[in-house]
Amino acid sequence: MDLSTFQEIVSDTALRGEILFLGIKEKGRRWIDPPDQGTVVALAPHQDDPDSVAVTMSLFAQAGCRVCYLIVCSSHGGVTDNYALKHAELNGELPVKDLVKYKFRIRLQEQIESAELAGFVKDPVEFLTVEEDEGGNLVESPENAKLIEQALAASNPDIVIMPYGEDTNVAHALVYRYFHMCAPRLALARGKPILALYNRDPKTARINEQLVVPFGGEAARWKARLLQTHRSQQERNLQQRGYGLDERILRTNREIQQELQQRILEGWKDECPYAEAFQVELFL
Ligand SMILES: [Zn+2]
Repeated sequence: MDLSTFQEIVSDTALRGEILFLGIKEKGRRWIDPPDQGTVVALAPHQDDPDSVAVTMSLFAQAGCRVCYLIVCSSHGGVTDNYALKHAELNGELPVKDLVKYKFRIRLQEQIESAELAGFVKDPVEFLTVEEDEGGNLVESPENAKLIEQALAASNPDIVIMPYGEDTNVAHALVYRYFHMCAPRLALARGKPILALYNRDPKTARINEQLVVPFGGEAARWKARLLQTHRSQQERNLQQRGYGLDERILRTNREIQQELQQRILEGWKDECPYAEAFQVELFL
């Protein structure tokens, strides 16, 4: 499908208050094919965020889009001391001089490995250097807003994917806000629209699902493998929650599917027990 037609249909359907489904297999009434050209940028507050929407990213890539990852925070605070020191011991890297830098390197390597495993991210994963708090999280600052705008302008996206801003995670909320501030300017400067897809994350407080990507068990197992490459996060989730990052994300994907099934009753429930979902916004 042509990119501008895709952007228009997705935006118009959302404005009419209807739900649209994205996928290869046509089922039910309101399915749309992904565009066959254009640049899709995952504007990720954290390293593992693009993998939370991996099925959608892979659909865009398979259809012919260029897919890029732009990672905002170093997120080193997500790696426990225990994990980092064990990692250093196993790799013969003890003693660790700068634990903060070492933790960031762990997260960076995990993300690069996950993008390689996904196979469709042809450009190098881009990591921004932003102002952060002591936990490696984005702080509120005009410089950070500018850095994000510059990085986005350079990547020249037709579609931007990120977590929706009504979220208890500060980095998710801030990245959304900064994107929202600069998106009209970026669209105007490039003279072409930007379609934003805001995904539902486990920490999303409220969202209006307008574009839905159902998927089955095989895609779920593939997605779980991508999420498992974030071993530091997999382990922390197992310790803190009793289940891994993979299960945390897939649980949200099951919840989305179950809630939507009750609302719309399309015919995909048996073969697709999971779904990624997005609120959409078109910047002209
Ligand atoms: Zn995140």
